[in-house]
Amino acid sequence: MRHRSKKIAEIIEENNPLVMIVEDNPINSKICQNLLEKNGYSTAIFFDGESALKFLSTCAPDLILLDIIMPGIDGFQVSEEIKKNPKLKDTPIIFLSAMNDEESIVNGFKKGGVDYITKPFRPQELLARTKTHVDLKRAKEKLLIMATTDELTGLYNRRYFIERLNNEFERFKRFQSKFSFLMIDIDLFKNINDNYGHKCGDLVLQKTSEAMRKTLRSYDILARVGGEEFAIILPETDIKSAETIAERLRKRVYENSIQYEDIEIKITISIGVTQSYINDKNIDDIIVRADRALYISKEKGRNSVTVSAEGKD
Ligand code: GH3
Ligand code: MG
Ligand code: MG
Ligand code: MG
Repeated sequence: MRHRSKKIAEIIEENNPLVMIVEDNPINSKICQNLLEKNGYSTAIFFDGESALKFLSTCAPDLILLDIIMPGIDGFQVSEEIKKNPKLKDTPIIFLSAMNDEESIVNGFKKGGVDYITKPFRPQELLARTKTHVDLKRAKEKLLIMATTDELTGLYNRRYFIERLNNEFERFKRFQSKFSFLMIDIDLFKNINDNYGHKCGDLVLQKTSEAMRKTLRSYDILARVGGEEFAIILPETDIKSAETIAERLRKRVYENSIQYEDIEIKITISIGVTQSYINDKNIDDIIVRADRALYISKEKGRNSVTVSAEGKD
């Protein structure tokens, strides 16, 4: 799982922005590099499109200054390749070219550029345009994190989780790539708030989230979907393996003790487990099944896992 917390937004802010300079003229690229590095940017320089694309398969810069006429593939083609890649498509590209006719400039925007600077360029203008687009990109990233993250726990929020669940369900319908689904509820959580206060309750939510996250694989999707309620999508996982994972989660939380001031707090969770079945019409069918299983776990006396294969054909 991506490490998602407030800290990410801080890291984004703290690090020098990385600007990639793709320009076959070594004098031009040196001028750009000096200018940017003097103004708080890190740079990576490439003299042709192919090596730039190779670098981009391992590293995501904050902005790309992209020449158009270069040996091998030209800047427009490089831009097209970048836009095809979901991981890179939002990286701002500023074209930097000696071609100053209207058609080339408009083409630069059509090919995905956010801006177009003609050569010979004015250094302060290049700097100002770079700053504008780096700031915008970082603001967008921060907004995206805020829109998809639960602030207290750093887990995904309900809205984002439902979106992912719908995507996973679509994939299942199209490619039969089954997934499992878990609903989790902290047992008798109200007592924690009542006995030790809301602040302690918040800490318990954070520590329990952390314990659960550490138990899962990086591609499992864990979210806080309500006050003390969580849900998990386990991609490519059948109900049998999901049960094992649920048991592991239950045990991990049960064994975890949370230190609050001089008190040691222990809590438990109840879990409902199910998987996607061919007869499911939509995600609600799956959610309802997991919810019912969770309810049975509560009835059984809590701190337990219930599996529901009700929808099986
Ligand atoms: P059960 O085992 O049946 O689930 O019992 P419970 O006490 O966990 O369930 P109940 O629904 O009665 O209580 C949930 C409590 O969670 C009530 C609410 O005040 C508390 N809660 C919800 N969101 C937060 C939060 O963000 N922080 C804190 N500290 N408490 C919260
Ligand atoms: Mg050139
Ligand atoms: Mg609840
Ligand atoms: Mg509860």
